[in-house]
Amino acid sequence: MSNVFYRSRKSYPVAVRAEGVFIEDAQGQRYLDGSSGALVANIGHGRTEVAQAMAAQVSQLAFVHGSQFSSEVLETYAARLADFLTLPGFRFWGVSGGSEANESAIKLARQYHVERGEPGRFKVVTRVPSYHGASLGALAASGMGARREVYAPLIREDAWPKMPKPDPSLSGLQDAERLRAVLEAAGPETVAAFICEPVVGASDAALAPNAGYHAHIAKICREYGVLFIADEVMSGMGRCGAPLAVRLGWEVTPDLVVLGKGLAAGYAPLAGLMAAPAVYDTVMNGSGAFKHGFTYAGHPVSVAAGLSVLDIVEREALVTAARERGAQLLSGLQALQARHPQVLAARGHGLLLGLVLGDPETGEAFPQPGLAERVAAAAREEGLLTYPGSGAVDGTRGDHLLLGPPLSISVAEVAVMLAALDRALATTGVSAA
Ligand code: PLP
Repeated sequence: MSNVFYRSRKSYPVAVRAEGVFIEDAQGQRYLDGSSGALVANIGHGRTEVAQAMAAQVSQLAFVHGSQFSSEVLETYAARLADFLTLPGFRFWGVSGGSEANESAIKLARQYHVERGEPGRFKVVTRVPSYHGASLGALAASGMGARREVYAPLIREDAWPKMPKPDPSLSGLQDAERLRAVLEAAGPETVAAFICEPVVGASDAALAPNAGYHAHIAKICREYGVLFIADEVMSGMGRCGAPLAVRLGWEVTPDLVVLGKGLAAGYAPLAGLMAAPAVYDTVMNGSGAFKHGFTYAGHPVSVAAGLSVLDIVEREALVTAARERGAQLLSGLQALQARHPQVLAARGHGLLLGLVLGDPETGEAFPQPGLAERVAAAAREEGLLTYPGSGAVDGTRGDHLLLGPPLSISVAEVAVMLAALDRALATTGVSAA
């Protein structure tokens, strides 16, 4: 018997080592990591350079508490990150995971308005579907019924007015304009922030709005005094072929940018928040302190991992690689769509790509989710890991697969992924059950 608390009663192979895009289990089976775990392992596995940077940091300074010290590595990293993301003057708040980072963003937005003398602003407009994290605040913000329903009594619904998901049949401007009606209905004087994933991840298979959407969202937010939070936990750090997905094809600077996953690419738990100078200054010139904190905030070893990962991303031009390999993978996925009628759409940006699965007769999701899980299981049999999900229709239904290998994947490895996926789609067939 194992003493491990597994996530579910399915059986889990025991991973023993990983290198490049491959993970190997205790039976010697090798898997191509076609989803970078959950879109995390951006630089691939087994980079000794990162291990060395972390070991050096452990020896020099493993931990200080954020209420007492900053650290050299944190100071250097915050500056490097602001440069990489072209967010001049933004302040980095480091935490351990994306849920903590979104909690921090929501609390900072709330405190910002309290400091400005508008304590009535407590609501955060979010979209359906969306996923912002598993902790209760971040989950409350998420428009993902399947992950929320068990916890419903703990979630105050009226604090999270909902905006519909991006509609690719609308121009980016018309699409974003729908935020105005949501704000008016909620009472704009009660709204602290709007949060969205610039390219949607776990809830809707790499769905992205048309060009101009985010710039117009930012404009409406400014008009109503609402902060714009871009949740780039999955889409950021080069994954979508640009340092920030919110800027794909348009110029926009959100008030708060939330990062995670690719930040330390799985080498250490690291996520964080970049806060615009105006937000930071309002708090510091007001009460003088962000009333929030985690023990491991800005952990020196995690930050050292992040710094080393950033070195590799820049040196190996992995943002460009994400664009190039992404184009190759997307055109292969479109070819699969033409061959397998249960693939209703193939889409995404860079190496955040998705397949929408459903009923070819109706062009809609099957009534019960499950096909994505079955395709993922078949792909795994073929030695390919993918990230299945559901929720695209209304936060509960709709099958999809996310594909997002390390940005360092080679041309030949992308071809291996596509061949395995082709076989998996052929074996699972078209039906829901
Ligand atoms: N935000 C987005 C967009 C995510 O995709 C995720 C995780 O999938 C999170 C937040 C939560 O991050 P974590 O699981 O690191 O807490």
